[in-house]
Amino acid sequence: MAATYDAIVVGSGACGGWAAMELAKAGMKVLMLEAGSHIDPAKDFHHTFLYQMEYRGQAKPGALRRYAGSERNYRIMLDSSENPYTTAPGTVYNWGRSRVLGGRTLHWARASDRMADYEFKAASRDGYGMDWAVSYADMKPYYDRVEGFIGVSAAKEGLPQFPDGVFLPPMPLNCAETIFTAACKSLGWRSTHRRLAQLTRMHNNRPPCHYCGNCVNGCDVGAMFNTVAVTLPPALKTGNVEVRTDTVVAQVRMNNENRAQGVTYIERNTMKSVDVDAKYVVLAASTLENTRLMLLSAKDGLANSSGTLGHYMMDQVGGGGVTGILPKLKGGPSRLDDGKSAGISIPNFQNIDKKTARKDFIRGYVINATGGQSEYPQFASALPGYGSAWKKEVKSRYVAQARVWIAGGEMLSQKENRVELDPEVKDRWGIPVLKIHFTHSDNDRKLIADFQEKADELFKKAGGEAMPGMGRGGPTGFPGAPGSPDVGPGAGGQGGRQGGGPGGGRGAREGAVGGRALGSSIHEVGTARMSASPKDGVLNSFCQTHDVPNLYVFGGNAFPSTGDKHPTLTMMALSARGCDHLLEQAKGKKA
Ligand SMILES: Cc1cc2nc3c(=O)[nH]c(=O)nc-3n(C[C@H](O)[C@H](O)[C@H](O)COP(=O)(O)OP(=O)(O)OC[C@H]3O[C@@H](n4cnc5c(N)ncnc54)[C@H](O)[C@@H]3O)c2cc1C
Ligand code: SF4
Repeated sequence: MAATYDAIVVGSGACGGWAAMELAKAGMKVLMLEAGSHIDPAKDFHHTFLYQMEYRGQAKPGALRRYAGSERNYRIMLDSSENPYTTAPGTVYNWGRSRVLGGRTLHWARASDRMADYEFKAASRDGYGMDWAVSYADMKPYYDRVEGFIGVSAAKEGLPQFPDGVFLPPMPLNCAETIFTAACKSLGWRSTHRRLAQLTRMHNNRPPCHYCGNCVNGCDVGAMFNTVAVTLPPALKTGNVEVRTDTVVAQVRMNNENRAQGVTYIERNTMKSVDVDAKYVVLAASTLENTRLMLLSAKDGLANSSGTLGHYMMDQVGGGGVTGILPKLKGGPSRLDDGKSAGISIPNFQNIDKKTARKDFIRGYVINATGGQSEYPQFASALPGYGSAWKKEVKSRYVAQARVWIAGGEMLSQKENRVELDPEVKDRWGIPVLKIHFTHSDNDRKLIADFQEKADELFKKAGGEAMPGMGRGGPTGFPGAPGSPDVGPGAGGQGGRQGGGPGGGRGAREGAVGGRALGSSIHEVGTARMSASPKDGVLNSFCQTHDVPNLYVFGGNAFPSTGDKHPTLTMMALSARGCDHLLEQAKGKKA
C-alpha cells in the first residue's frame, strides 16, 4: 500500500521543527507528531510579576513535584508523574524535559555557539574517543543556514576555537559584564558577548527583543528562537504539513524490505493506538527519547548492528562557579538587568593545540560571567541580620549581584554511560521507560576543578566579594522549586525570567561534580553516535541510520563527543544537513 505521507517527523522541538520546515518547503507531505499539547504564545504566555501570582512564582504546593519549572511556566513543562524514568543504583540524574508543541525551545536559554574542528577532531589530537564523521568545513554551510534563519546576536571575534557566524548585532553589556570584561583583559583572556538566538533587530518578519526578561516562561512575540514562532509558521504556510499534537509515538514499524514502514502512536487523551505510514521516518523527539523509540522498536534495538545504541551517553560537565557581589556596584540605582539576556563568554583557551595542552586533563570548557539586579533578591535569606539595617543591606546588594559559571565543560564519552529500557516501569500509556546509568570520569572531575580555580581568579580580578547563594540575579532569576524532579538551580533558572545559565555557585546541590546533579546542564547527547563505519556507531554523517536507509535521527544522538559549546545549534545544523541528504535520497541521488 502506498504511504500516506512522504515523511513523518516525530517531535516538534528544535530539530523536529527544522526538519518539518525544510522537507515541506521542498514539497514533501509531512506529518508532524507531537506528544505534548498545542500552545499559542500570544494567548498562553503572559507577562506577570511575582507579586501578581498566587504562589509568588513557586506554584501550587505539589504541582512542582510533577512539573519542572515554576508557577509561570509549568504549563510548558512535562508532567513527570505521567513520564517517569529510572536510574541505576549510584546514578543521580536530572533529565530536563518538556512535552508541548515546540518542546524545550519554548523555554531554553538560547545560547548558540558553533563547534570547531578542535572539537570535531579531538580524538585525533589527544587519542581519546572517536572523531566526528564531519569536519567544520562540512558543517559551516549548515551553521550559516540555521543562524541566518533563526537570528543569532553576537560579536565576531576571529578565534578559531569559537568560530564566527552570520550574526545580528550583539546586546550591549551591562555594568557587571563590563567589569568582568575588564578583568578578563587584565588576565589576558579573550571574552565576548554570549551568543544568543534572540533578535536585536527585525529579522525574517519577527520583531526585536523588547527586553521584558520572560524568555524562560515563553516569549509572546517570537523574538527568541522557538519552533512555534520561527520554523512552524513557514512550514504550515506551504500547506504541506499536518500537525497532530497529543500523539505519543510508541514505536517505529518496519516492513519486510528493511525499511521503516511508519510509526504507531497512542492518542494522549483517548489511549487509542494509531498506525501511520510514510516513505521516511525522522525521529526528532529529543536525544534520549529518540533512543528510547529505537530500543522499543526491535528486540535488540532498531538500527543497532553496531551494538552501540544507548551507549556513550554524555551531558556537559556543570557545577561549581562563584556567586557574590561586585562591591563597585553596591548601593547603586535599580536597573532592569534581567530584562536583557545576559553574560559574557570566555572561549576555551586550554587543550586547543599543542601549545596549550595540559598534562593533567584533556578537553576544555567555556566560562560565563554576568551580574546585576534580579527580579527578586533570592540571596536575602542567606544574609545574616534582621530589621531595617538588614533590609538596607539587602537593597544595596540587590543591584551588585554577580556570578561566574561554567557554560559547557566537555564530558568524556564512556561506553558504560548508557540508557536501556526499564524491564518494570512504564509510562502512563504503558510504554517502557528509560533507565539511566551515568557517572563522571576522573577527567571530568579534574576539568571542573580547573574551572573552579579560573572562576575564583576571575571573580577576584573583578574585585568581587564571594557569597554562596548570591548572584542569582540578572539572567538566572528565581530558581526552580527545590525537590522538583526535573529542575535544579542549575537547570537554567527555568522558573526565572531569563534563564541565562546555571546558578547556585558552590555546593548548590548533590551530585557527582561541582555539587550539581548530573543532567542539570540539560545538554544530553550521544546514545546513537555517528561513525564513518557502521561497525562503530548507529548513524552516518547525515544522521541517517547505517542500517535502515529511510530512518533519520535528529537531535544530540549523533554526537560522538560533547565539545565545549552549547549543543542545540549543532543539532539543528546536523538536521539541516540530514534533510538535504534525505531530499537527495528521495530524488534517487543518494542511497
Ligand atoms: C532550561 C533549558 C535551557 C537550555 N538552554 C540551552 C542553551 O542555552 N543552549 C543550547 O544549545 N541548549 C539549551 N538547552 C537544551 C535545548 O533545549 C535542547 O538541546 C534542544 O531543545 C533539543 O532539541 P530537540 O528537538 O532534540 O528536542 P526538544 O526540544 O526536547 O523537543 C522534543 C520534542 O519531542 C516531543 N516528544 C518526545 N517524545 C515523544 C514521543 N514519544 N512522541 C511524540 N513526540 C515526542 C517532546 O514533547 C518535545 O516537544 C536548554 C534546555 C533547557 C531545558
Ligand atoms: S526578553 Fe525574551 S521573552 Fe522578552 S521579548 Fe525578549 S526574547 Fe521575548
